Amino acid sequence: MKKRVLITGAAGFLGSHLCDRFIKEGYHVIGMDNLITGDLANIEHLFPLEDFEFAHHDVSKFVHVAGDLDYILHFASPASPIDYLKIPIQTLKVGSLGIHNLLGLARAKNARIMIASTSEIYGDPAVNPQPEEYWGNVNTVGPRGVYDEAKRFQEAITMAYHTFHGLETRIVRIFNTYGPRMRLNDGRVLPAFIGQALRGEDLTVFGDGSQTRSFCYVDDLVEGIYRLLLSDYAQPLNIGNPDEITISQFAEEIIKLTGTTQKIIYKPLPQDDPKQRRPDITKARRILGWEPKVNRAEGLKITYEYFKTLTKEQLEKIDHKDFTNYNK
Ligand code: UDP
Repeated sequence: MKKRVLITGAAGFLGSHLCDRFIKEGYHVIGMDNLITGDLANIEHLFPLEDFEFAHHDVSKFVHVAGDLDYILHFASPASPIDYLKIPIQTLKVGSLGIHNLLGLARAKNARIMIASTSEIYGDPAVNPQPEEYWGNVNTVGPRGVYDEAKRFQEAITMAYHTFHGLETRIVRIFNTYGPRMRLNDGRVLPAFIGQALRGEDLTVFGDGSQTRSFCYVDDLVEGIYRLLLSDYAQPLNIGNPDEITISQFAEEIIKLTGTTQKIIYKPLPQDDPKQRRPDITKARRILGWEPKVNRAEGLKITYEYFKTLTKEQLEKIDHKDFTNYNK
């Protein structure tokens, strides 16, 4: 009998790559998504497979899955600052009501559950790099609060189910990740810069560009997640690439990569934008024997090739979703 895994957020960037990985590893995959920010194009290649099924469902409502489940991976959530502004209440609900439903499902099925947490739980961090022991510096009522606090609550409730009910749980803290299938217009910096280069627009650096990020290629992240799921480690674990750069340097790299003749222009720094971010992955190295393998030059090349396959129409769309009425 094949092991059965439920992946929420299956039509999203990370969810779709996870579906691919679990299919490759010989699992039966049930993908679930409400398609608010996800896109079926990311998983349409899986629909013909016998071992893939898709459920169009919002996990903030009661979740029913027929049959056994061995694993649940909760990866459903808006995940970009623009999304948090547009769909704040959905963002809060999927990380609170959604995880509560999935923890109940995990108990009923006796399944192991992994939650996608985030470097955002560290907020605008006062220490760099960020080890798992750092408690964070989050503005609860700022624009990122709806995401950060939902993710913090998600960690708390997951740990409570682990200690109180003895549920098998895993918590992965994901740092900035990139690769094919990122949404072009979700406002995140990599699709923003590549989209601007492809459309012949100037690259918009926010603030003075001295803020840092550390970008992990998606295949490396998926490998870390897969190892963590199968490990016996229940405490939160950072997975990310510690290769840190400033956003200005990153813009220069995209200019070189794409060969654009456009220039960098500076825009105001959004409120609560973290000034630095870099994962301390000492624990992931020790516990999982994991570290990233793909360097930024290689990863960016693959990602750029993907964005080049998008049509002119896809490139020019500002928002590919209408968010009206979703904040209920
Ligand atoms: N950023 C930028 N120009 C853009 C989009 C983003 O300079 O067009 C900056 C943003 O202010 C932040 C960094 O790039 O400092 C990463 O932003 P992103 O939204 O990708 O993710 P974050 O790590 O901030 O959640």
